[in-house]
Amino acid sequence: MSAGPAIPWRGDDARRDGPTPRDAAIVLAWRRASRDPLVAGELEAIYEHVAREVARRGPACWASGRCCNFARAGHRLYVTGLEAAYVECRLVPGSRLAEGAVAAARACGGCPFQEGNLCGVHAARPLGCRVYFCDRSSFAWQGALTEAALADVRALHDRHALPYRYGEWREMLELLACHPER
Ligand code: SF4
Repeated sequence: MSAGPAIPWRGDDARRDGPTPRDAAIVLAWRRASRDPLVAGELEAIYEHVAREVARRGPACWASGRCCNFARAGHRLYVTGLEAAYVECRLVPGSRLAEGAVAAARACGGCPFQEGNLCGVHAARPLGCRVYFCDRSSFAWQGALTEAALADVRALHDRHALPYRYGEWREMLELLACHPER
């Protein structure tokens, strides 16, 4: 199959401009792919590989929840559109993100899925959440593991001719929210 096009992320433009036909087609492609057992299985295989690599290194997690508040932790979470759609379609049926949930999370610097100190979408969480640990001993290998796994995610897009975007987590969720399923 031919490679899916790499599309520059429009960031704030998407929020300001609202839905566009081109974005609608891209979001539809991600949603379909995230429900396709073949594509989802390949994404899950990447996540499982990452889990094994993390387990092998054994970083500590104190479940402080601090890493999910990006403002407090001083970092940002970036995801692919496919990963965002994968989380969305695995929400408990009927538990769509409440209107304004992403904006509220943004206002407090955090993630709309954080529940107390825990992740409300743990099984489906994106790659960055699987690799990041605030245990300083993990800083030496996080970058290389992320880059390698992202290359695998990019290759997955290429194999299935999926449009590729990599953007800030809440902006990706807002892009999905701008294009509700009918
Ligand atoms: S998806 Fe889960 S692990 Fe990732 S930032 Fe949000 S609450 Fe934290």
